[in-house]
Amino acid sequence: MGLFDFQLDLFQVKKEERKKIASSEFSTKSLVSFRYNPRLRKSIRCSYKGLFGHPEVTLPSYMKGEEFLLAREIVAEWALCANKRKTENNKKQIKELLDRFWGVVDQVLADQGQKTLDSRGRFPPIQPKGTYYDLDQVLAAVNETYFSGELECRITWSRRFGGLSFHSIRKDPITEEPVHVISISRGYDTANCPLYAIAGVVYHECLHIKIPVEQKNGRRVVHGREFKRCEKKYIFYDEWMHWHKTVLPKNLRAYRSKK
Ligand SMILES: [Zn+2]
Repeated sequence: MGLFDFQLDLFQVKKEERKKIASSEFSTKSLVSFRYNPRLRKSIRCSYKGLFGHPEVTLPSYMKGEEFLLAREIVAEWALCANKRKTENNKKQIKELLDRFWGVVDQVLADQGQKTLDSRGRFPPIQPKGTYYDLDQVLAAVNETYFSGELECRITWSRRFGGLSFHSIRKDPITEEPVHVISISRGYDTANCPLYAIAGVVYHECLHIKIPVEQKNGRRVVHGREFKRCEKKYIFYDEWMHWHKTVLPKNLRAYRSKK
């Protein structure tokens, strides 16, 4: 117990540092080291080395790239948490960090045009009815106004509150036909979310169906020039962007600290 408490104190000194990590600008490499294993796909491992138990996290090799920087920072925070005494609070935090981590990994894979981990072999549950908004209604309005009602897709709230908004192509379990599926972050299903904000994010995801990913010098451009030009056609673009940047992060933070 003695050594463990000592270790805990050491990490508490680093509390400020961890806050910076959470805001995603700080590299965590000094505290947490990463290894990569090509045989891993949907799992990660953590071991604690040396006198102070510095965490070493083993990740699937595909997470080596720059796109996974945010995911790696979240997982580093998780590794620090997982090494602490398992209080109720700590257990919740560990679960929350893992949820966020896999959510971000899914987002990167979706942006890369790869199958998301969630989608392997199964179709996601489609839940358009939220507490405050029915996504089917929002989608119908956006589709009618901006796409002459021609878009064909399914829409659902993200399964996790901290989930992100993204578009992916899945295989319909019955017809085996490819289906566009839009998932919207539950951070938008709140009393303080105005209709223009939810419609803005739905419009953005709809545009991904209309404007597929471009290939430029072997790189995938997800939000290219044409995409951005069309995105600004949304009549409340500025208002939505403002809400997205200022209120949404607050909603997510408030939810996390409540848990
Ligand atoms: Zn996008």
